[in-house]
Amino acid sequence: MSPIRTRKISPRVAIIGTGFSGIAAAIALKKKGIEDFVIFERADGLGGTWRHNRYPGAEVDLESHIYSFSYERYDWTRTHAGWSELLGYLEHVAGKWGLYPHMRFNEAVNEVTWSDERRDYVVATSSGKDHGRFTSVISAVGFLNTPLVPPFVRDEHDFEGPICHTSEWVDGLDMTDKSIGVLGTGSSAVQVIAEAEKVGSEVKVFQIEPNWLLPKNAHDFTSLERKLNRFAPVYFWRRLKLYADYDMRQHFTGHAREDGRSNRNRRRASIEFLHRELADRPDLIELATPKFAFEGRRTVTSDTYYSSLKSPKVTLVPHAVKGLSRSGAIDENGDEHQLDMIVLATGFDAANYLGTYKVRGEGGVDLHESWNREPDAFLGMMVPGFPNFFIMFGPNTNAIPLVTFYEAQANFAAGSISRAAKKCATKVEVRRSAFLIYNDWLQSRLSRTVWAKTTSYFRGGTGKIISQWPFSASSYVLATKLLRRLVVKVS
Ligand code: NAP
Repeated sequence: MSPIRTRKISPRVAIIGTGFSGIAAAIALKKKGIEDFVIFERADGLGGTWRHNRYPGAEVDLESHIYSFSYERYDWTRTHAGWSELLGYLEHVAGKWGLYPHMRFNEAVNEVTWSDERRDYVVATSSGKDHGRFTSVISAVGFLNTPLVPPFVRDEHDFEGPICHTSEWVDGLDMTDKSIGVLGTGSSAVQVIAEAEKVGSEVKVFQIEPNWLLPKNAHDFTSLERKLNRFAPVYFWRRLKLYADYDMRQHFTGHAREDGRSNRNRRRASIEFLHRELADRPDLIELATPKFAFEGRRTVTSDTYYSSLKSPKVTLVPHAVKGLSRSGAIDENGDEHQLDMIVLATGFDAANYLGTYKVRGEGGVDLHESWNREPDAFLGMMVPGFPNFFIMFGPNTNAIPLVTFYEAQANFAAGSISRAAKKCATKVEVRRSAFLIYNDWLQSRLSRTVWAKTTSYFRGGTGKIISQWPFSASSYVLATKLLRRLVVKVS
């Protein structure tokens, strides 16, 4: 039986992570008048992705005006902000909203445990400190945070030069005049390759499969553009136009079905770009033409990748790296490549949602054991049996524009916590039937997409699509608003 309650409950919330989504969650709580929250961060400063991904050339693929909070304008210097400008933006927002006093740096969360008796959580962190009890937990750790490091690097090896994963770039690691091996041809790789080509003596790009690529049209804003962008109507017009373009593209999954108009148009544009950029290098056209369905994997955007490939300094090796020698890498053909340093642009263990800590729900059930590497959640946020636990950027919520999703999730979580408090309730949970129906419906829609035909990090071990949201951002935002009161029960 639940305890008799007569007074409004005072929520105390733990947020895990200080990246874009953690900051969105904290601001949403403040907007609801909830001031009692702690934000745990394992790093020594805020920023998440944009603190860790500081490899040369790291910048966002989305336009700065849309890859930012709808309520926080900024004087962007570039159409697509680089990592340090994004970090500066997040620091600015956190300062403005008074979030620093809530942040606990160098506090990695190890375990989050629900008490059936007390109806609250205990959060165990790396320092071993007692942080008190929390009525709710908001996980904001993203899903691309555990670097995939190939076994031949993890195992003992005798390569003598530096080896660095893009998301763990060592400050001061210099590529100047080096012979650099880059493993991978995804979004991170194309950015680092362009920088390596500028300063290195030689670059070897190891490619398992080529990716679809579109131009990014990135550039620094002129001083006139910056002046104009400082006017609120100009800023919001830019944002609105980008939002509408992305929404239209994803309308009824048009981007992710082979017969979708957006998919066909962008595929054509991608082929034209490839043939235009590499017109004088038919050998490279052959090597760089993808064999999988367009949009089957994350489409890479870059203005520089194809021109880098044509540089006399750059060699595209159409093989995976399979091992290391003292002075280089050995590809799957058995050929050895002499290298001074190796950059692992090898991606992340994406299926391992919330993989950096344990979550125990009702009856001590372990969230990861119940997921069994095929995570699912209602609207990516709530799992039955894990009351008062909200996931930001959770399963099947990866779509564009990302920050719109974070804001919707933050509002959902803060709204649910606030509603429970007003009703003097201690438990917020998703109805199991709604969770099951929602996931069945979503998977049936996803099965018609190109993602179902392509091997990628979008899919779990048995092939289930675990990361992607197939529709527009507007449909997601609408669902979070309409369904919250219907399927989330408070008691
Ligand atoms: P990724 O897209 O998963 O790419 C990893 C690459 O490493 C793939 O090309 C993979 O080949 C290759 N690879 C793995 N093992 C290899 C080996 N032994 N030898 C040679 N190549 C190997 O990773 P990512 O580029 O880091 O991007 C991950 C995600 O992060 C993106 O999809 C995006 O969502 C996000 N991201 C965003 C931005 C941005 O907004 N600017 C920038 C970077 C990343 P195969 O795939 O062919 O197996």
